[in-house]
Amino acid sequence: MLYEKQRQDLIDTARKMEQYGLIRMSGGNVALRIDDKVLVTPTAMAYDTMVIEDIVVVDLEGRTVEGKRRPTSDLKAILYILNHKPEVKAIIHTHQPKAVALSLICDKLPLISTTMVDEVKDEVNVAPFTISSDEGMGVQTVEYATKALCVILKNHGIMAFGKDLEQALSAAIYLEESCDIYLSALATNRQISVLTKEQAEAEDAPRGYYGQ
Ligand SMILES: [Zn+2]
Repeated sequence: MLYEKQRQDLIDTARKMEQYGLIRMSGGNVALRIDDKVLVTPTAMAYDTMVIEDIVVVDLEGRTVEGKRRPTSDLKAILYILNHKPEVKAIIHTHQPKAVALSLICDKLPLISTTMVDEVKDEVNVAPFTISSDEGMGVQTVEYATKALCVILKNHGIMAFGKDLEQALSAAIYLEESCDIYLSALATNRQISVLTKEQAEAEDAPRGYYGQ
């Protein structure tokens, strides 16, 4: 079987999406590019009982290379992103509620915290509505992507991406935290302090260290 370890990484990532409240049941999906192959989660299957045999390996045109399950219904959107953003290796799609709530009332999430600079990388655009399971999700993601590792899909969810699954998951988690903070601030109806370009650049500049 191809990519046994990476198959388990996909399942572990999907389970963390559920643990962090980014999805419910079988919602969302996870994808990982390895060379000219893409590993994706299957459509409509719960992650808590998923096994590595359920992961589907496809090529960049979407043809199944290995696997008996039907791949995620968002495969066309995922492949569109991978084919237009070669730096992206991992993609996470969720229906995380705070980001969806924000998409109902805002066109973007401004840079509001140091954590957002560090983990999400930039302000995040809300892309116009497109139906689910359609390539349009991917087209809008590519069009509305900034330096940020996420795009919010209006009335739907988010796409988070990165050089690996860990980076994409972290971006999705901290995007949700940032949306929560911003919505709380918006509810006060008082003026909101967002980071200036200079503050964001200073936070983003290489300095000191954090972590082990
Ligand atoms: Zn969706």
